[in-house]
Amino acid sequence: MKFVNKLYAKAARQKNAALLCALLCLGLFAACRGAKDASASAQNPTPVSRPALNPADFDPAPGTPAALKVSGERAFKTLKEFVVLGPRYVGSKGHEMAERYIVDHLQGAEIEQDHFNAQTVLGQFPMDNIIAKFPGKKDGILVIAGHYDTNYPLKNTSFIGANDGGSNVGLMLEIAAALREHGNDGYSVWLVFTDGEEAMKTWSDQDSVYGSKQLAARWAKDGTADKVKAFLLLDMIGDKDLHLEQDANSTPWLAEVVRRAGARAGRQAVFSNRVNGIEDDHLPFRAVGIPVDDIIDLDYGFDNIYHHTTEDTPDKCSAQSLQAVGDIVMETLRALNTH
Ligand SMILES: [Zn+2]
Repeated sequence: MKFVNKLYAKAARQKNAALLCALLCLGLFAACRGAKDASASAQNPTPVSRPALNPADFDPAPGTPAALKVSGERAFKTLKEFVVLGPRYVGSKGHEMAERYIVDHLQGAEIEQDHFNAQTVLGQFPMDNIIAKFPGKKDGILVIAGHYDTNYPLKNTSFIGANDGGSNVGLMLEIAAALREHGNDGYSVWLVFTDGEEAMKTWSDQDSVYGSKQLAARWAKDGTADKVKAFLLLDMIGDKDLHLEQDANSTPWLAEVVRRAGARAGRQAVFSNRVNGIEDDHLPFRAVGIPVDDIIDLDYGFDNIYHHTTEDTPDKCSAQSLQAVGDIVMETLRALNTH
């Protein structure tokens, strides 16, 4: 993902001189564009609007059954097991192993593998969004999504994306286990493991979120988009020092439902007041009218020093952070199911 703010430019200063120039220029360009209009781009056209809902209406009434429990410890164990597979950039052996790992750990769910060929700035690459469906009793779908690929430009390094791709996979597989064990009385829950989130060269509307662009377009065409009540994106949620952003590109009422759920779950301390306009997997879905919220911490290590570096390893992440986000997500599902 990318964030359109001063943190991005600051991080760029810490790189070597050649990279510094390139990244600073990009940062300045992005900042200009962000300041003008966060939604005016090809990838991110003016969203199809649905009426805004009142977040307080989603506060569960007394007596509403408790949220399902997930284990941060188990999610962290899965994160570590998953990233041991090595770099998983598109087209790599590690990517194939990652796909297999995810599918193997989703047994019991209805699995759809959305194989497609992405036309990227570096040519055609096979990609695969993996969707695990847990049918519910209510008519509608709640999506929890996150990417599993690693950064392509770092393919010749040991970059494994423990936080960037690994953290959300760990928690999503833990949520799958909870749904499998306890069943689902509410809306259907779809876990979407997106592919090709990372840029092949340099982040732009054209060069990013390949899997989400293709899936959102398909859902708009086949009518699935109209059935999706909410799309919750998980990204960079494992940071030991967790501070979730306020994303200016998320749907305001849904972001507030998530915050209220977080407060009820006793997790208000992980929410930050930092506001960023974040470009990530949620934007193609927002563009087809789906309410979206990006649950993300974009300050990974001091001044975001570990982001997109080989320092993005499990020791910078924690079970506690995954537990906090797990509690927030499960309480959010409980809230969304009140309607
Ligand atoms: Zn990344």
